[in-house]
Amino acid sequence: IPVEPFDLVVFGGTGDLAQRKIIPGLYRRFWAGQIPADSVIIGAARSGMDDDGYRALARAAIDEFVTADKRDVAVIDAFLATLGYVAIDAKGTGGWDALKGRVRKNVVQAFYFSVAPSLFGDIAERLHAHDIAGPNSRIVVEKPFGRDLASAQALNGVLAKHFNEAQIYRIDHYLGKETVQNLMAVRFANMLFEPLWKAEYIDHVQITVAETVSVDGRGAYYDKSGAMRDMVQNHMMQLLCLIAMEPPYHFDPDAVRDEKLKVIRALDPVKPEDIVRGQYLAGDGQGGYLAHAENKDSKTESYIALKVNISNWRWKGTPFYLRTGKHLRARTSEIAITFRAPPHSIFDDADGWRENVLVIRLQPNEGMNLMVMIKEPGPGGMRLTQVPLDMSFAEALGEEGADIPDAYERLIMDVIRGNQTLFMRGDEVEAAWRWTDPIIQGWEARGDKPKGYDAGSSGPEDALMLMHRDGRRWREIR
Ligand code: NAD
Repeated sequence: IPVEPFDLVVFGGTGDLAQRKIIPGLYRRFWAGQIPADSVIIGAARSGMDDDGYRALARAAIDEFVTADKRDVAVIDAFLATLGYVAIDAKGTGGWDALKGRVRKNVVQAFYFSVAPSLFGDIAERLHAHDIAGPNSRIVVEKPFGRDLASAQALNGVLAKHFNEAQIYRIDHYLGKETVQNLMAVRFANMLFEPLWKAEYIDHVQITVAETVSVDGRGAYYDKSGAMRDMVQNHMMQLLCLIAMEPPYHFDPDAVRDEKLKVIRALDPVKPEDIVRGQYLAGDGQGGYLAHAENKDSKTESYIALKVNISNWRWKGTPFYLRTGKHLRARTSEIAITFRAPPHSIFDDADGWRENVLVIRLQPNEGMNLMVMIKEPGPGGMRLTQVPLDMSFAEALGEEGADIPDAYERLIMDVIRGNQTLFMRGDEVEAAWRWTDPIIQGWEARGDKPKGYDAGSSGPEDALMLMHRDGRRWREIR
């Protein structure tokens, strides 16, 4: 469904994110017929450049980041005609009046802050001082949203001076992934799972986000962040919330975000013995983390595993184990829900018995796998064995499921439509930092060093112990 014509200003429109994600994403939506040709998209950044220069930059970005099947010369030209460029100085006065002359007041107006967070305040202020933004304008802000509670509160404060919460779209591209939204559909559009979705029936939950990439090339940035800030506080917290939250009364922005917030508030503080941090070592002819980070004494973790308890009626007694890391054996993201044993076994030979596990695969090959017990075929009597009920969503949906919009595409269109459901609310971000801060402060105060792990492995040995001591074990990363 096409949206109404809109004006979108991309601050940082010449940057890496704009070239890799924002411009190609907008183009693909244009190609799909969702963006009307009388929309106006303005790149605004520091470089001196004119409209044609920006169109050339955008054309190159489309050539590089859009697949050939969607690159159509006429469509690209029509898309480029919607683009323009204004050179601005976020910290000065240059360019702002020119920008004002380029955007309309009578259409949906969005400003995408694809710049360092240190510029958010300057831009917000100038949008108002130069009478460019109005009460109906929307702003989109990129991650990282702070590096602790204080900095997140400061950012929220700076934005709140000029925009109210309904105008602010904090992007966590993870939430824009088709697969992540599917978690809500699986939970709340089926009768099958929800009655069992509680501590009484669920033994534990494992959430894994494993990456094969190292931090090579962006070690300087990553070293100031680490897995806890870069992955757990935002992306994994969102996954945990979607699995743990109560059913919202409606699929409505504040109803969903209220429920997520309640989960974050119910998280127990994490004990130091329930956390394992790791740093990958050199291997496979590649340097280790310390070589990539350039700081030979860095204590930043490229891996983290932790046990999280949620103190509420639904989840008391059912731990959530989270792990994420770089340079691991395989690239995989999944949520595995392990059910408890039946209350009583009627079978004499329960040797083959295993717990039911529902695995929701986010990537690769999005799908669901339910491990169920059956009788082992053959004359051996009533022996049990476990089999998978395995389904790939793409296969089940055929061609239709194959063309899934990228997270950025979906989220930008949601901004234009004014739907905040998949964006983090200010109080949600702050609550997540409020939980994260003492954990990080704890290991910083103790001077904890991460454990080394082999590049291409499943992470540090100690992480195995985190589950073994509870009589459980991690699923294999593969
Ligand atoms: P970048 O360094 O590639 O680009 C920065 C952009 O900001 C450039 O267009 C530059 O001209 C502009 N800029 C810088 N100072 C300015 C000033 N004083 N006035 C006007 N414009 C100015 O950065 P990026 O990688 O595109 O990242 C942009 C934002 O998105 C950052 O907040 C980053 O954390 C976030 N982000 C980036 C990625 C990514 O993959 N690149 C992923 C997630 C989040």
